Amino acid sequence: MTATQAKTATKQFVFSFQQGDGHDKQLLGGKGANLCEMTQIGLNVPPGFVISTEACLTYLEDPQRTLPDGMIDQVQQQIRDLEANTGKGFGDPDNPLLLSVRSGSALSMPGMMDTILNLGLNSETLAGLIRQTANERFCYDAYRRFIQLFGKVALGIADEKFDEPFETLKQREGVKADLGLTADHLREISEIFLEVVQQETGRPFPVDVFEQLEIAVKAVFNSWMGKRAIDYRNEFNITSAMANGTAVNVMTMVFGNMGSDSATGVGFTRNPGTGENLMYGEYLVNAQGEDVVAGIRTPKPAQEMEQEMPEMYRQLVDLRNRLESHYREVQDFEYTIEKGTLYCLQTRNGKMNATARVRTSVEMVSEGLINREEALLRVDPEELEQLLHPMLDPNHSVAPVAQGLPASPGGASGAVAFDADRAELLGRAGEKIILVREETKPEDIHGFFAAQGILTSRGGKTSHAAVVARGMGKPCVAGAEGITVNIRNRQAQVGDKVLHEGDIITIDGGTGNVYIGEIPTVEPEFSAELNTLLQWADDVAQLKVMANADTADAAQQAREYGAVGIGLCRTERMFNESERLPMVVQMILANNTEDRKAALDRLLPIQRGDFKDLLKVMAPGSVTVRLLDPPIHEFLPSERQLEDELEHLHQLRSTVAGMHDLAGAMRLMQDIKTGTQPPSSGIGDISVELVDAAIAKKEQMLYKVRELSEVNPMLGHRGVRLGITYPEIYTMQIQAVLEALAECQQEGIEAHAEIMVPQVCTSEELLHVRAMVNTARQKVEAAYNLTLDFKFGTMIEVVRACMRATRLAEVAEFFSFGTNDLTQASFSFSREDAENKFLPFYNELGILEDNPFEVLDVNGVGQLMRVTVDWGRQQRPDLKVGICGEQGGHPASIRFCHHIGINYVSCSAPRVPVARLAAAHAKLTEADYSLEAGMVAAPAAL
Ligand code: PEP
Ligand code: MG
Repeated sequence: MTATQAKTATKQFVFSFQQGDGHDKQLLGGKGANLCEMTQIGLNVPPGFVISTEACLTYLEDPQRTLPDGMIDQVQQQIRDLEANTGKGFGDPDNPLLLSVRSGSALSMPGMMDTILNLGLNSETLAGLIRQTANERFCYDAYRRFIQLFGKVALGIADEKFDEPFETLKQREGVKADLGLTADHLREISEIFLEVVQQETGRPFPVDVFEQLEIAVKAVFNSWMGKRAIDYRNEFNITSAMANGTAVNVMTMVFGNMGSDSATGVGFTRNPGTGENLMYGEYLVNAQGEDVVAGIRTPKPAQEMEQEMPEMYRQLVDLRNRLESHYREVQDFEYTIEKGTLYCLQTRNGKMNATARVRTSVEMVSEGLINREEALLRVDPEELEQLLHPMLDPNHSVAPVAQGLPASPGGASGAVAFDADRAELLGRAGEKIILVREETKPEDIHGFFAAQGILTSRGGKTSHAAVVARGMGKPCVAGAEGITVNIRNRQAQVGDKVLHEGDIITIDGGTGNVYIGEIPTVEPEFSAELNTLLQWADDVAQLKVMANADTADAAQQAREYGAVGIGLCRTERMFNESERLPMVVQMILANNTEDRKAALDRLLPIQRGDFKDLLKVMAPGSVTVRLLDPPIHEFLPSERQLEDELEHLHQLRSTVAGMHDLAGAMRLMQDIKTGTQPPSSGIGDISVELVDAAIAKKEQMLYKVRELSEVNPMLGHRGVRLGITYPEIYTMQIQAVLEALAECQQEGIEAHAEIMVPQVCTSEELLHVRAMVNTARQKVEAAYNLTLDFKFGTMIEVVRACMRATRLAEVAEFFSFGTNDLTQASFSFSREDAENKFLPFYNELGILEDNPFEVLDVNGVGQLMRVTVDWGRQQRPDLKVGICGEQGGHPASIRFCHHIGINYVSCSAPRVPVARLAAAHAKLTEADYSLEAGMVAAPAAL
């Protein structure tokens, strides 16, 4: 006896279904616990017992692999009880007790370990069973199934060793379905199977029924450490603490294949695809459970049983109702009908899609089965995003040609366009487009508007393409490295295939898959039940949910999704629209303040109109306008592009000059010969002067691009630094916001504006901008003859800003954590480089658990946020604090934000429902979360 076994010698390892604690899934496994519970609430479960997971672990710890001491005695006692209970005898030739043996761990691991049926058969008990049932065919069928399953599961014999002779026999007899086989055929196949076992194991098939049981139990235990089970646990990150070993469920056999008054079936208490409150499932008359799953015969829908076996249907409906009223969750159950009696063999909580999960949860509240809090907690916030985008038809069977990162969910098909202009052109002509780029830049924005989806071959989940697409709610696959985009040839290489402009492709932003050709999509549905659920969420949540939105359309969508305001309007996105960009470029190219002001004067009414639209859509919710943030060179083409264009223009100039010279020469000749009109040069109005003007403009741009070029633009001349050095830009924007607000106020719209300054690191910067705000306020108030009511605040995205929160709060009325930049700054990681180069390795090696640009790093960045909130509120107790980085839409990050006392989260529109539910979860599970533990919960190495 090993030391562990000595310690556990007196332990109870075996529990009858009457005895076991139905709530102890760790000890009895999910299936075993439910079998105990169902038995104890009076459902008709065949009698049986559970061997605990503890027995499994004790067995596996022992190098000799002997069963824990005392376990076999306990099993024997249970068998005696079963014999007394059923009146049958285990191994008794006259009235044999037959058993099923199933595995079952604490977490359901589908298909991991197979079931052995009809254990207890040997030639003697078989003969007894034949005498008893007078049904030879049934008995031989049971026998061959037992040998086959036992051989496969317990003795490890490959499937095909049994399948091949079985098929050969069926072919010989010209029989397709098993039901066409006679008793003689089945006897013959049983004998063949016994030989297979002898050949494959070198030993005869065990005839001692206790030996059969012992081998089967050990096989189940061993399967816990089998490759299939280990791979599954690794794949789904199931730690041993979550699923510690498997239990073994031993149950009296009941037979669904005892004639036309017998059947077997599987069911869901409600439809798992739609959530409809209707029995859902399938059954097969005169069959055993594995036949339904194996798909050998086509089962019938459960509703047909009402006609075919009315009494059985009544029992089935009764079972369904009792399961639901007891478990108060949709159940996925298995049953067998043996000669007119229905037995439940298994139940578990049903896996459903998001639509069904939401509908059943809401309906169960109105049926009084659960309360609102339970309904809210039942739905995983992340699931909700599925409901808001068109998805690829789940029944499609097209194989992907490449895979990238699932950067923005939803499915879309369209013609490939390799640049934004082309996308815009084709999009305007009504074509559906997928914009395919190596990576995208702000200047591609019009291509995003025109496209159904975006595919890039480089970049991570927070690359420009990903962030912008998510903001717009468009599908995006980013960093599909298997695709090589060749913009010059206007084609892309995908494996051995070449994609040309105009070819149709499909992307799935939920999986990252890329397909050639069109795959139909199914439309999203924001159902009445989802609205109800989210309303309940808002009633509970403490955190408010705002949206990051820059256009009236996005704001409208965010509002429909339940955002109570706009937490971040990135004004640079407004600059990017194609008719505005030339004005912005003019402003950038200006060499003096006068010229810059002239360009800005043209932009002012446009910005004012934009802000007014946003304020109106969101009223009475607030709209937080962030003053210009990115370095201005981002609005200009790249140096390389300009150089290429100039080279091209110079070539064009020589051609034009040559054509004009040629035309001149020809004119001379014509004049001399005929005196008639000379031919034109053939190049219309293009003159050398015009080309020269274009060259001059491009050269000016190139000069500016070189002048503005920076070694590290993200840490360079951007944000408030830009606003202070080019005050005209911020002045224009501030004036536009305040005038928009004034116009709303005049029109009686209850608008609320907030002006937010990006990249602030010292309160002096804020004071500087506030002075601009005050000047503008005076002007606008005088011009409109009213008093403006708005807030002035700052982004917190620089580490120094966190450390100076007290001072900043003297000036700022609100803080908004820009955790995209704050994460970059805290880690000193450049987001794009990190995601493209080393973050995946860090995740794989466990150096970092998550991508901190998606999931807030509570231990580092979170600490900074926590002190910032505390210090800021020490200075200004009513300081409003929010988060508007990507992480603001992530449930775990939202939970943390709730605990550090943040007032609102702001995220892209499609994440708004996710965030609303996550905010409710944060409140409802408050008691289970310790901020301190949350901070240190990650591995100490972090
Ligand atoms: C941030 O830094 O978190 C933020 C919202 O700003 P942006 O993503 O525009 O840099
Ligand atoms: Mg930022």
